[in-house]
Amino acid sequence: MRCPHCGKDNDKVIESRQASSGTSIRRRRECNECSYRFTSYERIEERPLMVIKRSGNRETFDISKISRGLERSLEKRPVSAKTVTEMLADIEDQAHMIGKSSHEISAEEIGKLVLEKLYRIDSVAYVRFASVYRSYADVQEFIDEIKKLNH
Ligand SMILES: [Zn+2]
Repeated sequence: MRCPHCGKDNDKVIESRQASSGTSIRRRRECNECSYRFTSYERIEERPLMVIKRSGNRETFDISKISRGLERSLEKRPVSAKTVTEMLADIEDQAHMIGKSSHEISAEEIGKLVLEKLYRIDSVAYVRFASVYRSYADVQEFIDEIKKLNH
């Protein structure tokens, strides 16, 4: 499997386990070139999880898209790569659990999963992600959201 960090195709599997949704096998891998650790998933079922976007369009669930959004929110924040990897693995597990019977999940539900995680991990990243993800009806709504963080 190609390393997302250095691009070399030379890794070893450190750990394999079935995701809690029962629909995928999660493998923790370590790159033999640069020691970067990452997670891969193998689907057990054939039907992919589909994401229903606000526009009504559907696309295949892709954790790397969520990863990119998260990375932008976490830029220059004191959050370790390990925490981010674990957060993404949890989000993927939970998304598959929510979409277990219908094979569908709304983009909004995914956004909520991400926000729940960020809320506990980093308040600045939470606000950044929320401001991009949610289209706030007005400024007051956004201010209320930030105020909640101070409690
Ligand atoms: Zn590497």
